[in-house]
Amino acid sequence: MPAKIFISACLLGRPVRYDGKGKPLHHPAIVRWQAEGRLVGFCPEQAGGLPTPRPPAEIENGMSGADVLAGRARVLEVTGGDVTAKFIDGGEKALAFAKAQGCRFALLIDGSPSCGSGFIYDGSFAGRRHVGNGVTAALMQSAGIEVYSDREIDALVTRIETVWRT
Ligand code: SF4
Repeated sequence: MPAKIFISACLLGRPVRYDGKGKPLHHPAIVRWQAEGRLVGFCPEQAGGLPTPRPPAEIENGMSGADVLAGRARVLEVTGGDVTAKFIDGGEKALAFAKAQGCRFALLIDGSPSCGSGFIYDGSFAGRRHVGNGVTAALMQSAGIEVYSDREIDALVTRIETVWRT
């Protein structure tokens, strides 16, 4: 059985994003890993019970996923709905899925209040970014899964080639 990599389902082009679209990542490694059966796609927000399409959501007050998990911040929709519990539930299901698949690495799309690992938006819905991670990324990192953003795929390729060679 080839070692598996957890990947945000939208990066595989699956139409799971809040706007009902995917955001496929075009890279030779994606093609190769898919052919090798290594990629396991998952959408935490759908797993948490949110519909598609859905209102965009951000973590409030410039906080991040770790703050949500610690009960210090909520995840709010642009319409005002509190979706904190669904984001945590979806993140926990994503982590359980990654563990069940034996994933040591996760490739997550950046900027998402679930999957972001380098930056997220600050809760103002004004397009303002800050350094931080989403709820799922925070859960995975605290569980010891190595998280790479879509912008870091070349670093993941290098890392994986080192690990899988040994
Ligand atoms: Fe993509 Fe993650 Fe958002 Fe699902 S939760 S649409 S996988 S970024």
